[in-house]
Amino acid sequence: MVLVCLILVSSSRASNPTVGHAAKDWQLHWEPARVVNGSPILFKVVPPVRLESLAGTWLDHEVFFSFDPHGKLWFGIAGVSLETPAGKFALTLRGKTTAGQEVSFVERLTVAKGRYRQIVLQVPRQFTEPTPEQREQIQQDQALKREAFSRIDPNREWSGGFLPPVRASITDVFGTARVFNGATQSLHMGLDYGVPSDTPVVALNSGTVLLARPLFFEGNCVVLNHGQGLLTLYMHLSKMEVQEGDHVLRGQEIALSGGTGRATGPHLHVAVRWQGIYLNPATLLSLEFP
Ligand SMILES: [Zn+2]
Repeated sequence: MVLVCLILVSSSRASNPTVGHAAKDWQLHWEPARVVNGSPILFKVVPPVRLESLAGTWLDHEVFFSFDPHGKLWFGIAGVSLETPAGKFALTLRGKTTAGQEVSFVERLTVAKGRYRQIVLQVPRQFTEPTPEQREQIQQDQALKREAFSRIDPNREWSGGFLPPVRASITDVFGTARVFNGATQSLHMGLDYGVPSDTPVVALNSGTVLLARPLFFEGNCVVLNHGQGLLTLYMHLSKMEVQEGDHVLRGQEIALSGGTGRATGPHLHVAVRWQGIYLNPATLLSLEFP
């Protein structure tokens, strides 16, 4: 009787009306359970046979998988851009067995529409026109970021869960739209922590310092490359304590917070990028990694 119940539980978990015959052989789990536009996604896969390698495709991006020997499962990180409409999208998995045989699996996941805040501006924001010199710097910054962000290293440097960069309250969440005259003027692509200047900032996870330099909008900015297309960005810093090329560990102090660049006051803005897409850092912090 107990056995029957166990089988029922495992088959109902794997069953899905949209998947094919092989569905009951593969176990796919993902976090968060409700995926919205702007979400990072942690995929966990138990294939029907022992694999030597596993790769995935999701929304035209490559998903890199690692094997966790303790949980005997494969895990990989992915995400959905804010611009992605609600709908069903396929995750395609391709594995290779130790004997060299290729196996594959497709699951269609629902992406729901995220509920993001809107701030309606009552008065026009004061835009100061950048000077020609500032415009030159903005263009140089953009070229630098384009170059730095375009490289994807398949090696994973992150491990375990992601840590908050500071212990402080969040003053603005990801995805907030600033609306003026009925039109969205800007989207907040990160998380703001209300911290005074010179508060120690730690790395969300292990990685290599991709950028550590002053930029026009971001101010003193540190970008960590965690591998597999995952980057974390720390902005408006008063002091950078790492250099480009340095390896940093999860939880290591990398900078002091500040109000440099285009900031209305001291705070820490943290952003998460996965393969060119900004993702909700708060969701990343909540994921349970093997
Ligand atoms: Zn911000």
